[in-house]
Amino acid sequence: MEVSLSQNTVTFQVPMSSPDVSDAEREAVAAVLRTPNLSMGPEISAFERAFEAYSGARHAIGVSSGTAGLHLCVRAAGIGAGSHLPGNQTTDLAITTPFSFVASTNVLLFEHAAPVFVDVDPLTGNIDPALVQAAANDLLEGGQAAKRWLPRLGIAENYALKAILPVDVFGQPADMDAILTTARQYRLAVIEDSCEALGAAYKGRLAGTLGDCGVYAFYPNKQITTGEGAIIVTNDDHAAGMMRALRNQGRAPGDTWLQHTHLGYNYRLDEMSAALGRVQLSRLEELLARRERVAGWYGERLAEIPGVRAPEVVASTTRMSWFVYVVRFDPGIDRDAVAARLEAQGIPARPYFLPIHLQPYMVERFGFRPGDYPVTEDLGKRSLALPFSGVMSEAQVELVCRSLQKSL
Ligand SMILES: *Cc1c(COP(=O)(O)O)cnc(C)c1O
Repeated sequence: MEVSLSQNTVTFQVPMSSPDVSDAEREAVAAVLRTPNLSMGPEISAFERAFEAYSGARHAIGVSSGTAGLHLCVRAAGIGAGSHLPGNQTTDLAITTPFSFVASTNVLLFEHAAPVFVDVDPLTGNIDPALVQAAANDLLEGGQAAKRWLPRLGIAENYALKAILPVDVFGQPADMDAILTTARQYRLAVIEDSCEALGAAYKGRLAGTLGDCGVYAFYPNKQITTGEGAIIVTNDDHAAGMMRALRNQGRAPGDTWLQHTHLGYNYRLDEMSAALGRVQLSRLEELLARRERVAGWYGERLAEIPGVRAPEVVASTTRMSWFVYVVRFDPGIDRDAVAARLEAQGIPARPYFLPIHLQPYMVERFGFRPGDYPVTEDLGKRSLALPFSGVMSEAQVELVCRSLQKSL
């Protein structure tokens, strides 16, 4: 489906998304290029300290992507540790959502762990905390009750439930209080995928800082960008030390350049990216306010168009951090036909999300089938992301909405 909507085929009148970069960012990046430090220099440290100040977390760790950040959280939580040993008979599990960008699940597979998917809330698309609780309860009890939560294939003889991995979908925080209660009851780690939710607040608390660790991502369509990059936040000193070592080829404190205590990665964030991110972070309130204004224009205009619903912001979301603008069509409307008609008018649009459990490699590895997660699949069929960014004008929003009205 992505292929038919490829931006290569048509010249669009409005881009799907645009970063908001000012002269201050350009100057900060140029200044780095006038120094000899292009990696592992003062910019990454300054960016991390700025993020600690902003989030209130004890540690902020810059990495090369959101996927890398989530992977380090999985490693630091010990998920999949020992899965490489010969004769390993245990699969580590994490309860997570099939309604997400694939990275939140892929990081489990990188460590030979498996997802226990539970379905989502139809209003927000966020993981359903009652199902998280039921799955944790049944899995720890074992036996037949546990079976119904497990994938059909790809699980070793024994399993160990290690973590919950909620995602703050489209910039709206997951229902974290309920998730944290379950996590405490069953002693599970909580990894918050806040890659879409920098600046969002859940009952007044900053999304991403509520679990054991959280990740914010900075691809160019996110609220702030570093080109590629992300920040992990955590209050856990031990985990932070491990993540700093793992992002830097497994070098522990005291290791020389060619000493590697751990099996690590190159997940470092370079100095140009960190400099860009530092200025973007200093502009965060402005950037979020601009996105909110654009979302407001969409909301007003969409209220006049029958058959399409604006995103729902629930009461626990005390601040929405608008990431993408995903509308939902009423049952009976052919979403893909509408998207194709929009494209023909020069307006890009994307189905958001295509369920993770139905991606070909997930079906092959775990035996998932259509119908396994009906709410996720329904949202996957009825949702469409419209062009969105903080630099969109009211006239562009009007153009998109007029085209949408025509396409319906
Ligand atoms: C953007 C995003 C990520 C991280 O993506 P990268 O491209 O690796 O930075 C992870 N999870 C979700 C839900 C995302 O939207």
